[in-house]
Amino acid sequence: MHDVAIIGGGLAGLASAIHLARAGAKVLLFEQHDYPRHKVCGEYISNEVLPYLSSIGLDPAPLAPKAINRLLFSAPSGKSISAPLPLGGFSVRRYALDEHWYQAALAAGVEIHLLTPIIDVHFNGETFTLKTRQGGEFQARMAMGSYGKRSQLDRVLKRSFFQEKARYVGIKAYYEYDFPSDLVALHNFPGGYCGVSQVENGLVNVAYLTSHALLKRHGSIDALEQQALSVNPHLRELFQLGERITPQPLVISNVSFRSKALIENHLLMNGDAAGMIPPLAGNGMAMAIGSAEILSGLALLFLDGNISRGQLEQQYQEQWNAMFRARLFWGRQIQAMMGKTLAAEAAVAGLRLLPALLPLIVKQTHGNSPQIARQ
Ligand SMILES: Cc1cc2nc3c(=O)[nH]c(=O)nc-3n(C[C@H](O)[C@H](O)[C@H](O)COP(=O)(O)OP(=O)(O)OC[C@H]3O[C@@H](n4cnc5c(N)ncnc54)[C@H](O)[C@@H]3O)c2cc1C
Repeated sequence: MHDVAIIGGGLAGLASAIHLARAGAKVLLFEQHDYPRHKVCGEYISNEVLPYLSSIGLDPAPLAPKAINRLLFSAPSGKSISAPLPLGGFSVRRYALDEHWYQAALAAGVEIHLLTPIIDVHFNGETFTLKTRQGGEFQARMAMGSYGKRSQLDRVLKRSFFQEKARYVGIKAYYEYDFPSDLVALHNFPGGYCGVSQVENGLVNVAYLTSHALLKRHGSIDALEQQALSVNPHLRELFQLGERITPQPLVISNVSFRSKALIENHLLMNGDAAGMIPPLAGNGMAMAIGSAEILSGLALLFLDGNISRGQLEQQYQEQWNAMFRARLFWGRQIQAMMGKTLAAEAAVAGLRLLPALLPLIVKQTHGNSPQIARQ
C-alpha cells in the first residue's frame, strides 16, 4: 500500500509529491493529462515561494525565469499608476515549469499515472480507495485533492460550491511584442481585466478574465478583444502592434471564486481545489505551493505516527486559514471592483493621489517575504 495518493499533477500536486517522496514516503500521483502542456495562467509567481522551492530541490533558476519587480495598473481609459512590487516575483511558462517538476517528481521516485483521471474516492476509516476512469483501483493511507479549480470529481463528492454557477472564463495567448521584462501590467477593460508580462523565452503572456456572458455577447474571442479589451489604449496598442504567436488562444471556463471546504470526507484539498484566489492577485500559484508546503509537512508527521488523523486535519485547517483566509477575502473584495469601469477609474484616480497605497494593497493578497517566512 502507498502512503499518499495525490489527485492532480499541477503545482500543488507535484510540489507535495516531490516534498513527500524526498522525505521517504511512497507516493502515487494521478494526472488526467500529459506533460508538457500549456495552461491558462498569467505565469507570474511571487518570490514568497523561493525558500520552500529550494528546500525541495525546485529552484526555478535552471528555467531562466524573468525577474519581475514593477506593477502597472490601468483603468479602461488607459490612466495608470505604477509601483514597485513589495516582494517581486518571476515569470516562466507553465509549459516549462510543470514539465520540469514532473521530471523532478519522477527522479524523486513518485509513481506517476498520466492520462489517468480519478473518478471516485472512498475512505473506510483507515485507507482511501481511488478509482480511475480506466477501471483501476489504488489504495493509500492518505489522499490529497490537488486537482485544480473545478473537476468532475467535485460533482461526485457533492461539493457545495459546484452547485453554484461559475460565471468567469480565462483566456490566454502569447505575443511577440516589445514589453519590459521586469514589469507585470494589469489592465482593466469594461467587463474584465488582463495581465501582461514577459516570460522566460521572451514572448509576452497575455491572460485575461472576463464573464461567459460578455464572451457570448461578442460572439468570438477576436471580437471580444477588438471591441471590449481594446477600449483600454494599452491593450489596443498590444493587439495592434503585437503578433499573436499562439494560433488559437487557450480558454478555460467555469472559473469561480466561491469558498470551498478544505477537507471532504478526509480527502485533504490542496491548491485551487482548496480555494481559488482571483487571478488579479497574481498569487494563485504561490498559494498552491504554500498549501503544498503546509500539507506535506503535516502529512509527514502523520505518516511517522507523531500526530493522529484528527490532529492532521485540525492542524491543516488552522494553518491553512492562518496563511490564506485573509488573502482570499481581500482578493474577492478587489475582484468585485474589477471590470467595472467607474470603480476602476476611481481606484486609479485615488491611487494616483496616494501612490503608497498600491504596494499595501498588493501585500494584502500576498504572503510574507522569503526571509520572514523562513524564520
Ligand atoms: C486567467 C488566469 C490567470 C492567472 N494568472 C496567475 C498568475 O499570473 N499568477 C498566479 O500565481 N496565479 C495565476 N492564476 C492562478 C493559477 O493558475 C492557479 O492558482 C494555479 O494553477 C493552481 O495550481 P493547482 O496545482 O492547484 O491547480 P492546476 O495547476 O490547475 O492543476 C490541477 C491538475 O489536476 C488535474 N486534474 C483535474 N482533475 C483531475 C482528476 N479527476 N484526476 C486526475 N487529475 C486531475 C488537471 O489536469 C491539472 O493538471 C491564474 C488563473 C487564471 C484563470
